Amino acid sequence: MDIINYLPLGALRNRQAERYQQALRQVVEKGQFVLGSAVTAFEQEFSRFINTKHTVGVGNGLDALRLVLEAWKWEGFLQPGDEVIVPANTYIATWLAVEQAGLKIIPVEPELDTFNISISPLTSLDLTKVKVVLPVHLYGRMAPMKFIQQWAIQNGIRILEDAAQAHGARVDGIKAGAWGDAGAFSFYPGKNLGAIGDAGAVTTAHADTAKRVRILGNYGSEKKYHNIYPGFNSRLDELQAAFLSIELSQLEEDNHLREKIAELYLTQINHPEIKLPSSSKTGENVWHIFPVLCKRRNQLQEWLTQGGIQTLIHYPIPPYQQLAFRPAFSGKDWPLTTRIHSEILSLPIHPLLTPEEIEIVISRINAFPY
Ligand SMILES: *Cc1c(COP(=O)(O)O)cnc(C)c1O
Repeated sequence: MDIINYLPLGALRNRQAERYQQALRQVVEKGQFVLGSAVTAFEQEFSRFINTKHTVGVGNGLDALRLVLEAWKWEGFLQPGDEVIVPANTYIATWLAVEQAGLKIIPVEPELDTFNISISPLTSLDLTKVKVVLPVHLYGRMAPMKFIQQWAIQNGIRILEDAAQAHGARVDGIKAGAWGDAGAFSFYPGKNLGAIGDAGAVTTAHADTAKRVRILGNYGSEKKYHNIYPGFNSRLDELQAAFLSIELSQLEEDNHLREKIAELYLTQINHPEIKLPSSSKTGENVWHIFPVLCKRRNQLQEWLTQGGIQTLIHYPIPPYQQLAFRPAFSGKDWPLTTRIHSEILSLPIHPLLTPEEIEIVISRINAFPY
């Protein structure tokens, strides 16, 4: 039996094998491996793609989030202990960035059919100490940015978008990473735009934020050996930047292929025990993940495994139940989020799936015994 891979990263990167070889040769010949022309070129291409003023390459997505918060601290906008609203259900990196910056995490429940932060709890929160909202465009779908933007402006709150799963997602023609005061991207290999190692970027329209992030990520130095902040070492390296430029050139086509698969899943998966995600306007959701909910999730996963279909769980344990966040959050519960974590399953949705494989996934799911 042929196995349907969840995400065949080697095969995906191999589509551009020759360009990778060429990029490697160029970077090695040039002999500048950190903060050189390939990084500058990628930053400009990514700014153009997102339609924002500044992109700053950094080491990874967690650092992208963290460095923005640190920049806002040095700017004087944030003080230790200020509050940051985050989704209760997200990858743990979102929470870690806030924790590591010495800020207070205020979790908010999601909507069940979009998995994104819910609007109504925002309007009933005590905002006295809230300085930042950190929406995550989870699974590739835009958080409700029109509302969040208006609400944030009214309340003097800054927006930091976690766009690590949403390269190219947009609403009203504005892309993830261009709505907020800043956006944080990850180019971890498994993301829609992925490097062949760790990489990340900050996007922003604010020159001041861009400059501070760049300085903080480079040991706090603007000028070599002159350090104005006790900074970090978190830089995008030349080789990853050169590879990312190659991957960026096919991102939109890949996102389009993912969307076509999602349309087939949405129209053809039909099972009384399986709840599908809601659809969205063409081109808005980049379907980083195709999540379904099933009360008998573990049996469904086993059924698919036996049918040769690999699936993953994003994520099995919510951040507040992780040991890393105990005891601060022990005894607290966000019931919708807890439910999502126990019922969610991610189906394969990568751009190399063949029509036959998609058909196998659909018919296997529809045949799940009940
Ligand atoms: C992947 C991811 C991150 C972290 O990115 P890294 O590059 O792995 O540090 C942050 N937030 C979300 C939602 C992610 O999916």
